[in-house]
Amino acid sequence: NRGIGSWPARRARKTPDRIAIVHEDGPEDGGITYRALHQRVLRLAHALRSLGVARGDRIAHLGPNHPAYLETLFASGVLGAVFVPLNTRLAAAELAYSLADSGSTVLVHDPELGDTAAEAAADTGVRHRITLGPAAPGAVGYDDLLAGAAADPLDEAVAPDDPCMIMYTSGTTGRPKGAVLTHANITWNSVNVLVDSDLAADEVTLVVAPLFHTAALNMTCLPTLLKGGRVVLMGAFDAERVLEVVERRRVTYLFGVPTMYDALAARPRWTTTDLSSLRTLTCGGAPVPARTIDTYLARGLAFSQGYGMTEASPGVLFLDREQTSAKAGSAGVPHFFTDARVVLPDGSAARPGERGEILVNGPNIMAGYWNRPQDTAAALTDDGWLRTGDVARTDDDGYAYIVDRVKDMFVSGGENVYPAEVEAALLTHPAVRECAVIGVPHEVWGEVGHAVLVLEPGARADAGADVDVEEILAHARTLLAKYKIPRTVTLAESLPRTASGKIVKAAVRASHAHP
Ligand code: ATP
Ligand code: MG
Repeated sequence: NRGIGSWPARRARKTPDRIAIVHEDGPEDGGITYRALHQRVLRLAHALRSLGVARGDRIAHLGPNHPAYLETLFASGVLGAVFVPLNTRLAAAELAYSLADSGSTVLVHDPELGDTAAEAAADTGVRHRITLGPAAPGAVGYDDLLAGAAADPLDEAVAPDDPCMIMYTSGTTGRPKGAVLTHANITWNSVNVLVDSDLAADEVTLVVAPLFHTAALNMTCLPTLLKGGRVVLMGAFDAERVLEVVERRRVTYLFGVPTMYDALAARPRWTTTDLSSLRTLTCGGAPVPARTIDTYLARGLAFSQGYGMTEASPGVLFLDREQTSAKAGSAGVPHFFTDARVVLPDGSAARPGERGEILVNGPNIMAGYWNRPQDTAAALTDDGWLRTGDVARTDDDGYAYIVDRVKDMFVSGGENVYPAEVEAALLTHPAVRECAVIGVPHEVWGEVGHAVLVLEPGARADAGADVDVEEILAHARTLLAKYKIPRTVTLAESLPRTASGKIVKAAVRASHAHP
């Protein structure tokens, strides 16, 4: 077996007694050693096989972060089956779409999601539901399955190019698409992370982002387990508890999205928590606001930053923490085994400073989208480069700056406006907590910007909201060209975001396009 299903066995051979996985929401002594992980994975693989699972079959998982998540992934890999992580925030109808789209035949789920799982699976090809804990109506019990199965070696021939998982994209720009990631894709991404983030065998990695997102699974868990470190899983994000666990478990590696890091720093406990164990803080998935970087620098903590996407397993660009200040705003340079280039609309290479679409190539790029040949053909060039749909530019040293998504750009009076740039400027005003900028139709200019602002609670109470808005726009005028300044503004209590904290621009457009 040359796939990731062999990792627990290989680790058990090298470091059997080291703790692989700790479940922070479980019993206090609940650490699973690599030896135990290997045994549990084998048992689960035998049990799945006895339920009829064969090579290439899809096994879906729905639940919060839990050791069973990783066990199911590895057991699928042992059998050559394909793991399909599902987003716990989706409604039953949306889950049914993913189950049917992926053609999953087995669904492993959390008992608390039993009703949703049953409803979602009803009219799909799911033949077996497995619930964590004891059996429930319509579902076999995970613990019973493991207890009743053999732990004999299982040797299925799995090749590096066989599919390992189908991961659904976040659905920020449309319906989530299933990216088919091979064992080689996942392995090379882990190697990229190990090389560039310097993860060590004594790593203690806290995973608070949901494992159904590629970053939590592939940038944190799998590289740590490949290296023989320890993964601490938390089921739900709770800023107070994260700080407590970082201190108590002496966490060394934390990966998160900007909203998560902001939430940590906003807690009263932030100032009193001992953060001295932290070695590597990585922030990715969205641009990191300058003030977030400053808040952490004030505590002696520098971020590495990353840019990537589900289709790239996901790491593409990486900015080492040493460069955080020198290359502020940059997402870095490509990971060690990955290449990137910026191209103009006519396909020619952009010069430094010129904006164009960023294309990516390397052993971590997906095989294609599941069952979507047209989307695959649109996303992958004939020579295997992934069209990211993101606009970027590079500086003279080759450091890349992500500008925005191609789809979110609008044209005002013949000039391209990238909302992300306008949002970053608005966010530098202390009264602005969150904001989203969209293009709306305009008779003269074609399109103009419209901003939706979420103000800091204090800012709103102290002064009249109208006064604030004028002042905020005046502030933006000192930073941006006139054509980029939003013509209209509405205030909102919150912005529509995906599970990973990204603003869903389509939803903003739907509710604010005609202010
Ligand atoms: P969908 O493809 O379904 O619309 P999505 O693109 O949000 O959703 P993901 O694969 O989770 O799904 O996210 C990848 C995208 O996130 C990138 O294409 C890019 O637009 C954005 N992104 C990731 N990292 C960064 C970063 N460091 N800075 C700016 N944008 C980023
Ligand atoms: Mg995408």
